Amino acid sequence: MYASSKTLFERAQLSIPGGVNSPVRAFKSVGGTPLFIKHAKGAYLYDVDDNKYIDYIASWGPMILGHAYEPVVKAIQEQAVHSTSYGAPTELEVKMAELIKSMAPNVDLIRMVSSGTEACMSALRVARGYTGKNKVIKFEGCYHGHADSFLVKAGSGLATLNIQTVPGITAGVANDTLTCAYNDLEAVKALVAANKNEVAAIIVEPVAGNMGCILPKEGFLEGLRAICDAHNIVLIFDEVMTGFRLARGGVQEKLKVDADLVTYGKVIGAGLPVGAFGGKRHIMEVVAPLGGVYQAGTLSGNPIAMIAGYTMLTTLNNHPELLDELDAKTLYLKEGLDGVLKASGTPYVINHLGSMISVHFSNKPVTDFATAAAANNELFKQLFHAMLRRGVYLPPSAFESWFLNNALSYADLDATIVAFEESLKEIL
Ligand code: PMP
Repeated sequence: MYASSKTLFERAQLSIPGGVNSPVRAFKSVGGTPLFIKHAKGAYLYDVDDNKYIDYIASWGPMILGHAYEPVVKAIQEQAVHSTSYGAPTELEVKMAELIKSMAPNVDLIRMVSSGTEACMSALRVARGYTGKNKVIKFEGCYHGHADSFLVKAGSGLATLNIQTVPGITAGVANDTLTCAYNDLEAVKALVAANKNEVAAIIVEPVAGNMGCILPKEGFLEGLRAICDAHNIVLIFDEVMTGFRLARGGVQEKLKVDADLVTYGKVIGAGLPVGAFGGKRHIMEVVAPLGGVYQAGTLSGNPIAMIAGYTMLTTLNNHPELLDELDAKTLYLKEGLDGVLKASGTPYVINHLGSMISVHFSNKPVTDFATAAAANNELFKQLFHAMLRRGVYLPPSAFESWFLNNALSYADLDATIVAFEESLKEIL
């Protein structure tokens, strides 16, 4: 079934570390051969062995309207003949910035970069430059990309591979990163008090997606806002996953809490390498060339990436029903899975908001990294493979949100629920 993927994986390991260009792709924690993909269209992935899968990763978020979404493909083709990069400003970048400002709250100025990592790394530098302070508070199990400051108790691939400390990150950098449990406001207050006048920023996934899907408890985000206001701390919402997905204006709009700085990635580039950081004018004015906080990129605002992202965001902005449809599909899936899990008698938790959802095999609420890690993740691994054999591609880790895309049909969702029921019967 996976013969060609196996051959390619063996070949890949001779030239690429672990055979992959990003660790979670290696299936290390779930075992087995990672699938090498040849083609994707709409809600489906096709591997090099010509197996077809219903895709619940959506490239880890970007493909919110499905693969090879025709308006995006066409826009890229039309732009490509005018060159793929200029290294000089374009009108398209201005239009992109104006569009994002019109969609997202609290974005007065915005700078484009090429990944979510760069967006978060740059936002933290801005917060430090603006406040003149060094330390950052992040939450255990949140992932903000692979910049040094964030690889402390991080979620996503680090949680999947059980990497606690990352060799190569200096003690100085690690010491400036303070961590506490997600949803634990008292712990944040204690950290701020113990590091008086030293905390530049609090960075948070306002709905977390890198330890499965974890929702902020009522008052958590509002509490962070109040702490930041009281102590001259910059509140950074990492909306790389949630931006333009949970609402056109992200979690800021959906849950009505204001950030000072916000970072984007994934959907903003429609599958091309794009990220962005932006926020309130008085803070963003420290960015070079206005201010001294240097930040740059040869391919930042790249015209192919911009036309792809601009086309995607324009579509989402002009057709709010698309996100509503996607949310309705996710709710339908949730209810289907809920019924199957209930009937199975196995302890479980489904966390869900909008088009983000995850299943933990746990008998208590999953509200932070500790409770996510305490779930029966061995069972999740078996579920992953049982679903894969039935043509459903879930994220290969319990420490990831599933991402739905709007190309999924109700027939796909029904097929997924049936596959889920059969898989549970097989593994329990
Ligand atoms: N922040 C969050 C919340 C993410 O989920 C990710 C990637 N999964 C990043 C930042 C980093 O983005 P990138 O992989 O584009 O560097």
